[in-house]
Amino acid sequence: MGLGRLLILGLLGWVVFVLWRRWQRAARRPSPPATTRVVQCQACGVYVPESEAVAQAGGFVCQAHRAAGRGD
Ligand SMILES: [Zn+2]
Repeated sequence: MGLGRLLILGLLGWVVFVLWRRWQRAARRPSPPATTRVVQCQACGVYVPESEAVAQAGGFVCQAHRAAGRGD
């Protein structure tokens, strides 16, 4: 008795769960154009967001070390 109903209820719950998860993932999508990557400064080893780091020959450096060895 009621096994079919239970099955339908379970299926409905699963569908709602899947839809909810999908909706949450879509709502969570970050708006910034580039994903925030964290890079390590070659000079001092500090971790900084890629947007704040400066790309150099051997990798990235932080703002404090970007001028090192370069004529500005
Ligand atoms: Zn540094």
